Amino acid sequence: RAKEELRGSYRFFEPEMDLQLRARRQLQMDMRDALKRDEFCLYYQPQAETLTGVISGFEALVRWEHPKRGLISPSDFVPEAEENGFIVELGEFVLRTACKEAASWAKPLAISVNLSPVQFQHGDLVETVRQVLRETGLDPERLELEITESVLIDDISRALDILKQLKGLGVLVAMDDFGTGYSSLAYLQAFPFDRIKIDRSFIAALHENKHSEAIIRAIVGLGRGLDVPVTAEGVETQAQQAFLAELDCAEIQGYLIGKPQPIGLLAPHLGGDEKKATKQVA
Ligand code: C2E
Ligand code: MG
Ligand code: MG
Ligand code: MG
Repeated sequence: RAKEELRGSYRFFEPEMDLQLRARRQLQMDMRDALKRDEFCLYYQPQAETLTGVISGFEALVRWEHPKRGLISPSDFVPEAEENGFIVELGEFVLRTACKEAASWAKPLAISVNLSPVQFQHGDLVETVRQVLRETGLDPERLELEITESVLIDDISRALDILKQLKGLGVLVAMDDFGTGYSSLAYLQAFPFDRIKIDRSFIAALHENKHSEAIIRAIVGLGRGLDVPVTAEGVETQAQQAFLAELDCAEIQGYLIGKPQPIGLLAPHLGGDEKKATKQVA
């Protein structure tokens, strides 16, 4: 009887599921075409020293410039790209584009690139990174790979092995969205991260919720104890910056310093030929 009920409910939802499935297949095909048509682009968000506001680097964030739907943010297509495996190709595009871009800057600023857990499961991530570094000539120490703890959840020994190989290439590894997962502390013990990025939900709650202040204080203290620099994400106000400066949190990232933008608009921060920079802004 249970089986019949199941079948019944399945039939009931079928048209809707079919629609969803078709929409997803369509999105999947659209994404592959979009990469060929060069519709994916990177926006760059500055990261700065908390005390001085001096820019130390940029995080590359992918966008889809859809001819009909306009600019699509990663939350609307990255999960689907992870589901269907396309993120491996897209991630390689992001890595190559960001490294090529950073290698052209006059100032040796840092460049951060997000990696998906799926890139650890499929393809040869280490070989890809090695290849891109070779191709672009970027100093590996300028490249920071951002991972969330979801990378470590499925097959921790495999993930740790890949992370060690990546560090062997001379690149840095940051723990992104720290504090939102289930066992972030265990992962800090398992791997020597080069940076901890406090999730922006804690910073957003700073002046509304007393607990978030204690949590941020604890994470910055943890970073100090481990000798790992901490970046606060989502800093939008001077009050938040002042609080983080007082804690001696190394870096901040957020709308206060700058929103993610196309690279042309950031030319003044990148050093080099002033005339060329002005032209790019115009
Ligand atoms: P993330 O890596 O934690 O990136 C930070 C996100 O916070 C970005 O959203 C950024 O625009 C947003 N943000 C930064 N400062 C502020 C602020 O002051 N206020 C608010 N409200 N938001 C702020 P975005 O660009 O929409 O990216 C969302 C997420 O998508 C990223 O979170 C990352 O997990 C993922 N993502 C983006 N690009 C890539 C990529 O190339 N590959 C992979 N695998 N994931 C990516
Ligand atoms: Mg990130
Ligand atoms: Mg983050
Ligand atoms: Mg995130």
